[in-house]
Amino acid sequence: MDSEVIVRASDVRRRFGEGAAAVDALTGVTVDFERGRFSAIMGPSGSGKSTLMHILAGLDRASSGWVEIDGTRLDGLSDRELTLLRRRAVGFVFQSYNLLPVLTAEENILLPLTLAGGRADAEWLGQLVEAIGLADRMSHRPSELSGGQQQRVAVARALVTRPAVVFADEPTGNLDSVASREVLGLLRRAVDEFGQTVVMVTHDPRAAEATDRVVRLEDGLVVADE
Ligand code: ADP
Ligand code: MG
Repeated sequence: MDSEVIVRASDVRRRFGEGAAAVDALTGVTVDFERGRFSAIMGPSGSGKSTLMHILAGLDRASSGWVEIDGTRLDGLSDRELTLLRRRAVGFVFQSYNLLPVLTAEENILLPLTLAGGRADAEWLGQLVEAIGLADRMSHRPSELSGGQQQRVAVARALVTRPAVVFADEPTGNLDSVASREVLGLLRRAVDEFGQTVVMVTHDPRAAEATDRVVRLEDGLVVADE
């Protein structure tokens, strides 16, 4: 049903550079992501996964075609409006965690709310801290946490605004198998218990096993949807 689609891409193309040096990273991607599902985007290196994720998340713009997030077409927005939409509706998890080193774990988690001028809902924050299992580490800085702990903090940060969709680009790429399982379990829980929508780029088949759906890209096109 239409109302269940939270992210939609229609015939998205992305060309980098011009003339003989041009690279067509996406050559016509049409794909929908439904609310409350955990989806993986897989494909060989260079197939356009990160480019697609950046365009779906409003971090980069399509050369042609369009993207809609939570009912809003991104192509009609100014850069300022796009920033505000991202802040309100999109959460991010990066391979390299991207926590701010001078902030504590709790301050990092709350940062998206702080930036948006919002206040923390104590109950929601409590649920998130419980879910990531780091209640006793909230006053620690990132350098005092393991990679897996830092990524769990990053997941809580991505969820704190209850965004329409969370995008994760290789979130387990820097983690050992135990820490990877914990982060995947956390993303799975965000979907099952908190009703969140997660779209994860990964080349790890074990990571993809935690998801409900796998969209496969090759040479800038969707070649399978399982
Ligand atoms: P993946 O994430 O699947 O490995 P990417 O989306 O990063 O693939 O890249 C897809 C293609 O687009 C590659 O050929 C890559 O070299 C090219 N590409 C990506 N970003 C840029 C850029 N900023 N400038 C030029 N080419 C780029
Ligand atoms: Mg990539």
